[in-house]
Amino acid sequence: MIDSDLKLATFDMDGTLIDGRVIFSLSDRLGFSDKVRQIQSEDIAGHLKTKKIAKLLEGIKVAEVQSAVASIPLMKNCEFTISELRKRGFKIGIITDSYTIAADFVAKRLSLDFYAANRLELKDGIITGDIKMPLGWEKIDCFCRISVCKRYHLEEFAEKYGIAMVNTLAVGDTRSDMCMIQRAGVGIAFMPKDPDVTSATDRVIHKPDLAEVLDIVDNSFKS
Ligand SMILES: [Zn+2]
Repeated sequence: MIDSDLKLATFDMDGTLIDGRVIFSLSDRLGFSDKVRQIQSEDIAGHLKTKKIAKLLEGIKVAEVQSAVASIPLMKNCEFTISELRKRGFKIGIITDSYTIAADFVAKRLSLDFYAANRLELKDGIITGDIKMPLGWEKIDCFCRISVCKRYHLEEFAEKYGIAMVNTLAVGDTRSDMCMIQRAGVGIAFMPKDPDVTSATDRVIHKPDLAEVLDIVDNSFKS
């Protein structure tokens, strides 16, 4: 059953809801950002990079990750935009290829409805280096091949809440977000970091202010 009044908004986290990237905040603090950058530049599928980066986190305390996330400010007008979307009937959540520890922190801070992210395996509050990746691209033959296929999870959350794809909004800034930006009823490239992301949609925001999303929403969805 499709609920015609309800709408769904999915946001990327790093560089979209928050003005920074968790893995770099963490690796800068602990002195291994060069290793992260090196893995990210490798010519392998995204999900394999995520697995390699998780190995670098072995031995780090969960509390370190939480404090790295807490140190990153929310994007300008983030809380205002979320509360305005809620007034417009949106279910709102995060789809990120970062970690559940980080997504959970941001989702709680913003009282969001859901999130999808990679789960780092823990033992006594310490990261083991193993990671559980939700994937999803292998089920829908998506081109992204990253650890959390955002298109797959957008479709899953829409189905879960009984929301038609035409009533979905997706906002993101990197190549990881392209598959959900293209699939959503309204896909927005927010401060795009790559020309491919800019050309994935005709709705592009170049100003680091999430309130710009509301103008697009009000012009794109029937209320
Ligand atoms: Zn995908």
